[in-house]
Amino acid sequence: MKKVAIIGSGIAGLASAVRLAVKGYAVEVFEANSYTGGKLTEIILENKYRFDTGPSLFTMPHFVDELFTLAGENPKDYFNYQKLDVFTHYFYEDGTRLKAFADKNLFANEVEEKLNEPKENILKFIQYSERIYKITNRVFMHNSLHKLKTYLHFDTLKSIAQLHKIDSFRTMHNANKSFFKNPKTVQLFDRYATYNGSNPYLTPATLNIIPHLEYGIGAFYPKGGMHEISQQITALAKRLGVTFHLNSKVEEIVIDENTVKGIKVNKTFLPFDKVVSNMDLVHTYRKLLPHVAHPEKLLSQPKSTSALIFYWGISKSFSELGLHNILFSDDYEKEFNALKNGVSIDNDPTIYINITSKFTPSDAPDGHENWFVMINVPANKGQDWDKLITEARENVINKISRILNIDLKSFIVCEDILDPRKIESRTSSYQGALYGNSSNNKFAAFLRHPNFSKKLKNLYFCGGSVHPGGGIPLCLLSAKITSDLISD
Ligand code: FAD
Repeated sequence: MKKVAIIGSGIAGLASAVRLAVKGYAVEVFEANSYTGGKLTEIILENKYRFDTGPSLFTMPHFVDELFTLAGENPKDYFNYQKLDVFTHYFYEDGTRLKAFADKNLFANEVEEKLNEPKENILKFIQYSERIYKITNRVFMHNSLHKLKTYLHFDTLKSIAQLHKIDSFRTMHNANKSFFKNPKTVQLFDRYATYNGSNPYLTPATLNIIPHLEYGIGAFYPKGGMHEISQQITALAKRLGVTFHLNSKVEEIVIDENTVKGIKVNKTFLPFDKVVSNMDLVHTYRKLLPHVAHPEKLLSQPKSTSALIFYWGISKSFSELGLHNILFSDDYEKEFNALKNGVSIDNDPTIYINITSKFTPSDAPDGHENWFVMINVPANKGQDWDKLITEARENVINKISRILNIDLKSFIVCEDILDPRKIESRTSSYQGALYGNSSNNKFAAFLRHPNFSKKLKNLYFCGGSVHPGGGIPLCLLSAKITSDLISD
């Protein structure tokens, strides 16, 4: 049996472990932390409030199911999830509130009623989003963009012939302005750029593919919370014989004559036939491969946004809030300009509140809720985070209090905070970026590192910092592409 080492147990590292074990490789996962899952983990405060610390929105669950099916298991025996009827509860400063129903028609009626936006505009937009998905899905997401055989496939050629239809020559914001008459509707759809840490005023309208993931395929909630995703894939990998080495930081990828020979952990050389790095690309090169030439152009691409998150135990429950809630800023462009400049955080940030106790009541005591309160912030470039966090905390509390007409401070019973510095130190993500490179330019898909090394034999890459990108579904696809490339 050929031996594969996987560096990191993020979602893509775990999925690669499953896929390679199914293919018959002897797989060992080396994880720097004492737990698996990377960004997809949990914390418990005061033994009472449980929080998923990272991802909160679950789309494309069939990519998780597929891992169980490949292993000959029934996913439903281990991992279950429910489809959401309402994706998001939206709140605007002027008191407008609306619900994004999963049912397209209900949603279109709601937007027409609350925003005076003609229903047909919404339905036309959702169709357009689906069209972009259908053209780009096969080419950009399921295959390596860096292998000739991808381009020789009939489906790929068909998609390439239609690439002029994917709206890559204008920004998402400009496209959305052309669809909708109410700026609030434009803002609602511009927000989808943040699903991969991008800026709607810069990113190509191709990213209007994202609403289709919700309105066409659905958004889901895993039974027991997001943490179940990483825990159940870890358990599946163990059942397949994968060995996990926790608290085992890889220090070097050992190379001889441009061929990977193994890794170094605790200064000890461990031989492997193949190595898959799920560690952030920039740190893989800079820390584990200091003696080889680095692909500087790819490494220096601008990074996606990071996040500032307050985990609050709240001593009250709020019927007007759901699982996912957005409190919009009044001036979205100003907010994104601050993110682009990267120095400060706008004093009126859009606030996202995720409350899993709405679906998993045991996540908070009776009559209480577990609030995951997040704002987008720039990637970490050494800003004075302590000062920025103190200011942002005040602005966030004031805004929520204003919009919900409450004194929020009096309900916060416990707190933990995650900021870009901690995201970087806990998961080794360069600058604490959530999704690797940003997608703020139309060539971004081609400026992501391939899932293999062109220079070093037997070295592969998976995870949010390489092709096809960040977010759980794309990370799961990167694992698929990577393991498909490993064949001998
Ligand atoms: P990561 O999760 O980055 O994990 C990498 C692992 O490698 C870590 O465990 C790290 O410890 C380990 N490692 C690094 N270096 C070494 C080394 N030298 N030796 C050993 N181990 C090492 N996505 C969504 O789909 N929906 C969302 O709602 C969403 N929201 C998010 C909110 C937040 C706050 C964050 C942080 C992310 C969010 N994301 C979301 C993005 C998603 O979490 C990531 O894209 C995805 O989890 C990244 O997985 P990954 O496989 O790249 O690995």
